[in-house]
Amino acid sequence: METQEQVINRLRKSFQSGVTLPMEFRLAQLEALQDLLQENEQQILDALHKDLAKPSFEAVLSEIDMVVNDLCYTISNLPKWMQPDHVAKNLATKLDDCFVRREPLGVVLIIGAWNYPLQLVLLPLVGAIAAGNCAILKPSEISQATEQLLSELVPKYLSQACYAVTCGGAENTKKLLENRFDHIFYTGSQRVARNILQAAAVHLTPVTLELGGKCPCLVYGQLDMRAAGRRLVWAKFFNAGQSCVAPDYVLCTPQTLKELLPAVQEALEAFYGVQPEKSPDLGRIVTDRHWSRLMEMLAKSEGKVEIGGESNREEKYIAPTVVVNVKDSDVLMQEEIFGPILPILTIESLEEAINFINNRDKPLALYVFSDDTQTVTTVLESTSSGGFCSNDGIVHMCLPGLPFGGVGASGMGSYHGRWGFETFSHRRACMLRGWGLERINVLRYPPYKDSNLGW
Ligand code: NAD
Repeated sequence: METQEQVINRLRKSFQSGVTLPMEFRLAQLEALQDLLQENEQQILDALHKDLAKPSFEAVLSEIDMVVNDLCYTISNLPKWMQPDHVAKNLATKLDDCFVRREPLGVVLIIGAWNYPLQLVLLPLVGAIAAGNCAILKPSEISQATEQLLSELVPKYLSQACYAVTCGGAENTKKLLENRFDHIFYTGSQRVARNILQAAAVHLTPVTLELGGKCPCLVYGQLDMRAAGRRLVWAKFFNAGQSCVAPDYVLCTPQTLKELLPAVQEALEAFYGVQPEKSPDLGRIVTDRHWSRLMEMLAKSEGKVEIGGESNREEKYIAPTVVVNVKDSDVLMQEEIFGPILPILTIESLEEAINFINNRDKPLALYVFSDDTQTVTTVLESTSSGGFCSNDGIVHMCLPGLPFGGVGASGMGSYHGRWGFETFSHRRACMLRGWGLERINVLRYPPYKDSNLGW
């Protein structure tokens, strides 16, 4: 067994050899990653089911297809992205060749979370490979079956000289972080992100932080309430609410609440039946510890459980639950819920809703459900969030043309598609100059006394 240091040194040597630089190498590795996903679909689905009872449809959509789509997009655009960008020149640089060249950073570390355990390490890897880096993947130890599968499959399909998987929990990762990397790409909680930043500071390593937080969903004014109920329920209870971009809470007026609740109830029954515990389409909470945390929050909440509330510890099951009469000070509003519990808070006006959102950390995603485009525009223009989507939830992150990432406490940096390629690239400013125009240079040489540059 190689030590962490030996693996990093091996990858560093490969990087320094220049093997990852040619476009052909990068494309071949991206295609190998496509093969990995396509040839092992059943094994992947089984692992995700073991970890999270993830319904196959959700697993294909959010774990496999997300990466496959990004791979296709990246493979077809990489030749263009790798081209240098020539920039505008002025009189003094007229004869020079001035361009921005994308160069790989070196050996990068990708640390993933457990809720989308495959996608959260392989999607950043697409960007890292495309940009010509070597990479070490550190999947979450909590989603153990997927962690194990990744550690078997990655060396089978990708160059072992350039890419590696390391397993283990917090202690192992802390030790790993003592080493120097050229970039750290971290997905996970805000709490651990602070440790990542501290470790990165020692080596002045640049970081991308893909974090979470509380994503608001404002339901306001006239709208198709049945459709709103379905879209809200789908986005909230997909993966049993364990999505960083799940609507964390709803804001609406008391009048809207009266119309929204029956629509949510109807959508829940249509999706999961009257006994959601029996539905194969509802995932489970990842561990007993996470289940207890959610149940404790629910028990401490001073709100009223309007829908759901049932649970089963053995099964790590929590019914899709809607809580009303929730106050700002409620336990459900103190941290990201990250489970199938949806608090609804009432506001009296659009202004109050905007102030409510702006008085908290900038969220990873912000959702507005309304027929009125002016309402949507007003919220868009008077708030800040990592991503924004009107009249739906989660779906904005599936388009590789849009950057995915947070702002403020919800994260720094972004990826998906070209944004991932850029994250793992250094933009090197290049000026290739010859020996011409020396007479102009005279203007900037000392003695300066008589120089007149005219600016
Ligand atoms: P976590 O921070 O506990 O763990 C994430 C990773 O960090 C794991 O691989 C873990 O092994 C490692 N880790 C844990 N403790 C560590 C330590 N002390 N030092 C170094 N590494 C350590 O997060 P989680 O519980 O796996 O994920 C849940 C959080 O992630 C939620 O807040 C969620 O919103 C967020 N999330 C964000 C995104 C995104 O793309 N923005 C995606 C998924 C999850």
